[in-house]
Amino acid sequence: MRVVKSISEIHTLSRDAHARGRSLALVPTMGGLHEGHISLIRQAKRQCDVVIVSIFVNPKQFDSPKDLTEYPRDLSRDLEILEPLRIDAVFAPSEKEMYPEGFSTTVVPGDVAKQFEGEFRPGHFTGVATAVLELFNIIRPDLAYFGQKDFQQSLVVRRLVEDLNLDVRLVICPTVRDKDGLAISSRNSRLNPEERKAATVLHRSLRHAEQLAHGGESLASKLVAAIREVFAGEPLARLEYAAVVEPHSLEPTERVTSGCVALVAARVGAVRLIDNLILGPAGASPETLLQLALKTRHILDAGGLIPGFETESTRLRIAACRECAAIPTILLPPREFLSGYVTTYYPDRGAPRIAVIGRDAPLSPSNFLCAELKLFPNLETLVVLGDDAYLQFQRHLLERAPSGFKPLDELLQPQGWAREEVRIPTLTERLLKVFYCYHPTLGYKRSPSIAPFLA
Ligand code: AMP
Repeated sequence: MRVVKSISEIHTLSRDAHARGRSLALVPTMGGLHEGHISLIRQAKRQCDVVIVSIFVNPKQFDSPKDLTEYPRDLSRDLEILEPLRIDAVFAPSEKEMYPEGFSTTVVPGDVAKQFEGEFRPGHFTGVATAVLELFNIIRPDLAYFGQKDFQQSLVVRRLVEDLNLDVRLVICPTVRDKDGLAISSRNSRLNPEERKAATVLHRSLRHAEQLAHGGESLASKLVAAIREVFAGEPLARLEYAAVVEPHSLEPTERVTSGCVALVAARVGAVRLIDNLILGPAGASPETLLQLALKTRHILDAGGLIPGFETESTRLRIAACRECAAIPTILLPPREFLSGYVTTYYPDRGAPRIAVIGRDAPLSPSNFLCAELKLFPNLETLVVLGDDAYLQFQRHLLERAPSGFKPLDELLQPQGWAREEVRIPTLTERLLKVFYCYHPTLGYKRSPSIAPFLA
């Protein structure tokens, strides 16, 4: 393991790796290494030939001089931790190396940096983005690893990469926690024993919100209130913010769906801590949850967007919702109906007999649904999941006036699902079986399995 302090030396190392056709990973850290960092490094080792860990306590991202002074710095301890991990190099530049005299450029991120951490730590993300861009330019990694623990940061970096067309892929790794749930952080070492105990309130409050969501609570405001209530019972902690947000914009959401993120920040004693939890189906793995939260944008950017239809997020939500009773319907071939991916998933469009319509976007004035369904000439059964799909289906495919159909909730009583046979002349001359169910995403009531009817 080489310990490199100069930009020119690490640059050469990186250039050599690329010249030999080896993939290069960068794990940026501020030192004070712990299991969270180690998980990122292990992941990088699994995926890349050459792994560089940077250790740089970036003064530009500290809004408080006291916080900067008190930030743990112990390079020899960090090197001891890194030694057995068999990485290729540690890049530990001085402040002067990164920001020599005359350095005067800053990278100012946009909207995703404005709220939450951006609000409570003015200038923080500008400092992060400036340092990260410089590190990317120095090291030119193929892949760079960040932790979910700093969810907003990972989003700021994602925007940086996308907006400036940086040639690097980001890998976001799940949060590593202590046994009692506290997210591991270099700052935890500054907590006294009492504060350390109190600090679990971040995770406890998030779990409480998650339990409510799993129990069917779909209003974000209720989850936020529940988080606040848990904090109210912990006198050593002072909540700074609690919110449930859309994963890509960080806009507070009204209705909770899979992939939404609950964020909290609090001061415990003098130490400021943050944590977050991605809401999703009970029992989903941390990786699946991350996928749910992060995937959509990427797919949309890749051109997979059908107007008014978030195909990939719907697919992921449905695929990940394994505990839901409605899922067996989706596991039947075809697994789901996603016209954006028709050619990939259904090269033989004559094969699918069942289409599952799980649209959760608000009603679009244009009717894409019929055109999408028409792509499959042999459909016999349609499964309509959730309110939005139901409304769209009734209005645009069955051409029923709002007074001509019941609200979904009423229709699905008492057994949790309903069926009818319909003829949709714009689609096919045949009679189609239609099943209506609740949407299987988080926060919706569950419908029992209708698999036997579809077999
Ligand atoms: P830091 O040294 O705090 O700047 O963190 C360096 C990287 O490690 C960032 O991408 C963090 O999100 C990530 N990280 C920090 N703590 C954890 C944790 N407990 N689990 C996973 N990743 C983490």
